[in-house]
Amino acid sequence: MTGSFSGAPIPSPLIVILLGPPGAGKGTQAKLTEAKLHLPHISTGDLLRDHVRRDTELGKQAHGYMSKGYLVPDTLILDMLFERVSQKDCAQGYILDGFPRTIRQADALQLRLQGLLAPVVINLNLSDSIIIERLTKRVVCEKCGTPYHLLYSPPKVQDKCDRCGGHLIHRPDDTETVVIKRLTVYHEQTAPLIEYYTKQGLLHTVDCSVDKDKVFEQILAVVKRRS
Ligand SMILES: [Zn+2]
Repeated sequence: MTGSFSGAPIPSPLIVILLGPPGAGKGTQAKLTEAKLHLPHISTGDLLRDHVRRDTELGKQAHGYMSKGYLVPDTLILDMLFERVSQKDCAQGYILDGFPRTIRQADALQLRLQGLLAPVVINLNLSDSIIIERLTKRVVCEKCGTPYHLLYSPPKVQDKCDRCGGHLIHRPDDTETVVIKRLTVYHEQTAPLIEYYTKQGLLHTVDCSVDKDKVFEQILAVVKRRS
């Protein structure tokens, strides 16, 4: 890296990769990190949907695979990702959510970063039993989407939203059988990635059994140590 004309070194971009099971609060932490560090939060799922909706060249190619029932190849996802992160707002860095999911994707990412930039990988850690308790006792307002937890943050009136009076429902994704299935898939996909980044000395584990502000403090501490 060369210095800027003022003589101060240009800081290399900060790339944060968030890994975390459903129920660990990944979305919440991504938002907090985005706001505090002024780094864009990039979800590859959103990127893909956006390209398909705008019918871009990459979106057309992706749609071709999807319409035949194939997975969108990693190279295409990486093209979208790198087009996105080459935009101006990513110059200082970015937060990756939902990528990489596999070792192949992690290798491809490493290759594109040319080994110059080591990402900060944050593993949001929470035991399965706590996840199951959190998710299966979660209800949301049918009307406005406000979440409640029957143990930790129950509504004032049973089954009714404090905010708008709407009816509170369990999301179909949050039944115990479905949660256990989602966790199994998550562990199968993520365990190899955890090993991969541990071997490279890039993995930082954060305890998510505490409240969300305490989780965020741990994330900030990790990021500060890096910069
Ligand atoms: Zn409501």
